[in-house]
Amino acid sequence: MSDKSYLDWPFLEPRHAALEAALDAWAVQHLAHAPDHAAHDHAGVDAACRQLVRQLGDGGWLRHAVAGTDHGGHCDTIDTRTICLIRETLARHDGLADFAFAMQGLGAGAISLHGTLEQRGRYLPRVAAGAAIAAFALSEPQAGSDVAAMQCAATVDGDHYVLDGEKTWISNGGIADFYVVFARTGEQPGARGISAFIVDADTPGFEIAERIAVIAPHPLARLRFNRCRIPAAQRIGAAGQGFKVAMSTLDVFRTSVAAAALGFARRALDAALAHATQRPMFGQMLSDFQLTQAKLADMATGIDAAALLTYRAAWQRDRGRSVTREAAMAKMTATETAQQVIDAALQMFGGLGVVSGQPVERLYRDIRALRIYEGATEVQQLIIARDLLRAATAPRAATNGPA
Ligand SMILES: Cc1cc2nc3c(=O)[nH]c(=O)nc-3n(C[C@H](O)[C@H](O)[C@H](O)COP(=O)(O)OP(=O)(O)OC[C@H]3O[C@@H](n4cnc5c(N)ncnc54)[C@H](O)[C@@H]3O)c2cc1C
Repeated sequence: MSDKSYLDWPFLEPRHAALEAALDAWAVQHLAHAPDHAAHDHAGVDAACRQLVRQLGDGGWLRHAVAGTDHGGHCDTIDTRTICLIRETLARHDGLADFAFAMQGLGAGAISLHGTLEQRGRYLPRVAAGAAIAAFALSEPQAGSDVAAMQCAATVDGDHYVLDGEKTWISNGGIADFYVVFARTGEQPGARGISAFIVDADTPGFEIAERIAVIAPHPLARLRFNRCRIPAAQRIGAAGQGFKVAMSTLDVFRTSVAAAALGFARRALDAALAHATQRPMFGQMLSDFQLTQAKLADMATGIDAAALLTYRAAWQRDRGRSVTREAAMAKMTATETAQQVIDAALQMFGGLGVVSGQPVERLYRDIRALRIYEGATEVQQLIIARDLLRAATAPRAATNGPA
């Protein structure tokens, strides 16, 4: 049983603790026997993911992933703390369930935050009900960390745009009903010449170029656009504002990646505690050794430190504050800490820890990609440092200005 004392922290309200308790009980009932799929079993992973989206929709959980009570949402804004708690709780039970929830939120996030009334009415109710699957298509083979290097282009043709190019590493690629795609429209160079579009999966000229198998299996694909015509009404936000649309969406969901990492780390600590107190060794239990106790202490302290940063960032965003630095700190710390916690837990299990399908072995695979996507750790370091340097030089610039 995980330590849930964090639910009393001042960043959270009683409604958050109530939601966590209800979701935990739901997850025990619905996610207890989640199978581990082989990386190349695309059909099995797709079916499991579709089923999880439906279950999460039926359970009412996806209503928290979209904004707007008129469009199926639980409330009119996205409550970042709720998103984080849901992801942490689902990740503690099942990595694929967390993935299914997160992608509905990330895939529909740009529509929730910047969509027109028509776009919101058309897509959000189905996302909230689990009747349509969403995806977020930003990365390209030559533009991952360096998003502004994107080449996928959208050219105006009457009242349409024509998309040409590729996207890769797209989660839900192959099963999504629609993709929020970012493409170069060229209003200005670099990041100021990108726009966001909603592309329905059945649009002529759109195809899945390749399915990608990864260590923690989930639907993932490379997408191809070949003279793919999109009505101009499918553009999200103003032309040339796509980079801002993408970054504001990531500001919400980056913090939730930290929360998912916390869920994985808490499950690893629970498993380590249970194992260490029951494993006889040299005439005592593994937990009786001070070397083990030092590891357990580091694991618990790391989790609390990461949780404090995570819920601080979520709380700050819910108060309408900028969270670029705080979200980056949370994501970097929680994902790196969770990796260390899970590795320490696996080590305590000895040979059992590397047996395929064992809980700690699954966690070891589940955590790895979180240190890379939605900005690798090095990118988070740059974001934090840039923000620090901007703050440090701003007053100096003012002082050095003309008298
Ligand atoms: C499982 C998974 C799911 C994903 N889902 C999606 C999705 O749904 N939608 C989407 O758009 N994208 C998705 N991505 C893509 C993800 O966002 C990119 O993989 C990520 O941004 C890194 O880009 P890259 O893979 O091209 O690596 P690169 O940009 O080539 O970076 C490689 C490595 O270089 C290092 N690095 C980066 N920048 C710097 C720097 N400035 N200084 C020093 N080192 C640096 C980092 O360690 C990084 O991991 C997903 C990726 C994975 C693995």
